[in-house]
Amino acid sequence: MKTSVIVVGGGIVGVCNALALCQAGHQVTLIDRKQPGRETSYGNAGVLSESSIMVLNNPNMLRSLPKLLLGKSLGLRYSLAFVLKNLGWFLKFLSYCTPSKTRAAAFALRALQLSSLEQHKKWIAEAGAEHLLREAAWVKAFRSEVSFAKYRDEMVLMDDIGVRYTVFDREQIRQIEPGLKPVYCKAVIMNETCGVASPSALTDSYVALFEAAGGTVHRGDVSGLSGVKGGWQVFIGEEVLSSENVVIAAGPWSSEVAAWLGYRIPMAWERGYHLHLQPGDGPQLGRAICDMDGGYAMVPTLHGVRITSGVEITERDAPPNYDQIIRSVANARDAHEMKDVIDEEPWMGRRPTLVDSLPMIDAAPRHEGLWFNFGHQHLGLSMAPGSALSIVAMIEGDEPPFDLYPFRATRFPI
Ligand SMILES: Cc1cc2nc3c(=O)[nH]c(=O)nc-3n(C[C@H](O)[C@H](O)[C@H](O)COP(=O)(O)OP(=O)(O)OC[C@H]3O[C@@H](n4cnc5c(N)ncnc54)[C@H](O)[C@@H]3O)c2cc1C
Repeated sequence: MKTSVIVVGGGIVGVCNALALCQAGHQVTLIDRKQPGRETSYGNAGVLSESSIMVLNNPNMLRSLPKLLLGKSLGLRYSLAFVLKNLGWFLKFLSYCTPSKTRAAAFALRALQLSSLEQHKKWIAEAGAEHLLREAAWVKAFRSEVSFAKYRDEMVLMDDIGVRYTVFDREQIRQIEPGLKPVYCKAVIMNETCGVASPSALTDSYVALFEAAGGTVHRGDVSGLSGVKGGWQVFIGEEVLSSENVVIAAGPWSSEVAAWLGYRIPMAWERGYHLHLQPGDGPQLGRAICDMDGGYAMVPTLHGVRITSGVEITERDAPPNYDQIIRSVANARDAHEMKDVIDEEPWMGRRPTLVDSLPMIDAAPRHEGLWFNFGHQHLGLSMAPGSALSIVAMIEGDEPPFDLYPFRATRFPI
C-alpha cells in the first residue's frame, strides 16, 4: 500500500531513503535545514565501498590502545573530558573488540555494502552522473612491512567473506600511481570498490532524480515530532507538516531527534576534517589513497586533491581543532606533490557512531509509523542505498534485501 512519508535529514542517507521511497510510489517530503548533502555527507572521501568490513572496534584496537591513548596516532585524537564523561559508552564500544563480534559485523556490513553499491550504480546511470564514478578506486598504502603485517587479520577476513583485493609492491605501486613518491612498500587495492569525484555532486544528482520522480524537498529546521491518529505531525517552528510515516535520517543529530520521543540512542561522534590542495604539475592520482601509517586519506576530486583526516572523538559541537588536518596535509605532501591549499579554512564533519559501529535501520520499537535510519559512521556514503531499500521493504511489509537483524533497534536498551 502506498503511503506518505516525511524523511527528516537530507544527508546522503536521507536523500537515498527519500529517493527509494519515491521511486517505489510513495508520496515523500525530504526536510533539511540546509541544502541537502551539506553536512557530513559533503566532505567525505567519496569512497563507495563494498570492502570496508572491519569495524573500528576490532581486536587490533585493543592491542593498539596504549598508543592511541597516548595520542601517538595521527589517525585518532580524543578529548579526555568527553571520554570520561561517556566512560560507559567507551567501555561498551571496547567490549565489541572480540573476534566473533568483529566477524559477525563484517558479514552484516558486506551485505549492506554490496546491496548499496549495486543500487548506487543504477542511480548513477539514471542520474547521468557516470562522469563522477571511478572503478577500483580505494587503495590502502603502507609505509612499512610492520604495518602491512598488522593488516593481515583484515585480509584473512576479506578472504573469508569474498572481498577481492590485490597486493602491490613498491614498483607496482609506482606503475599504477606514478604520482606517488616511493614512500610506500606495499599497497592493497580493493578491486571492486568504487569512488566518486564529488560526494556533494552525487547527492545533488540524486536530489534531482528524487524531484523528477515527484518528491518534495522542504527547507526547514525540524523542532518536534508528534504521533497523531493515523500518522505524524512534524513541527518546523510554527509550521506543521503531516504524514503517515516519518523516517529519522538526521545523521549525527538523529540521537537528539529520537530523544524527543524518549529514545536513548547510544551515539557518539567521530569528527573528521578535510582540506583541498591544488594538484601539482606531476602525474595526478587516479584513486583514493588511504595512508595506513600517515593517518589520512588523499583523494582526487573535482574540487582539488582532498586530504581527509582520521578521527577526532569529542562533543558533537565542540569548537573545531585543526591540528589533526594540518598535520595530515604535511604527511600527505611527503607522499604526493601538491601546490597551495585552496580552502580558506578546513571543513569539519561528524561521523555518527553507534556503540557497535553498525547503523540502526529499523522500525522504532515504541511508535508505529516511525523509522530509524542512522549511525552510518565511516560508511554512510557506501551504505545509504541499501539502508534505503531496507526501509522501503519494511514500510511495505516485504522481505528485506538482506538480513537486517544486525541493524535492529532493539539490540540496545533504547
Ligand atoms: C572525513 C570523512 C571522510 C569520510 N569518508 C567516507 C567515504 O569515503 N565513504 C563513505 O561511505 N563514508 C565516508 N564518511 C562517512 C560519511 O560521510 C557519513 O557516514 C555520512 O555522510 C552520514 O550521512 P548522514 O546522511 O547520516 O548524515 P549527514 O550528512 O550529517 O546528514 C544529516 C542531515 O540532517 C540534517 N538535520 C539534522 N537535524 C535536523 C533537523 N532537526 N531538522 C532538519 N534537518 C536536520 C542536517 O542538516 C544534515 O543535512 C566520511 C566521513 C568523514 C567525516
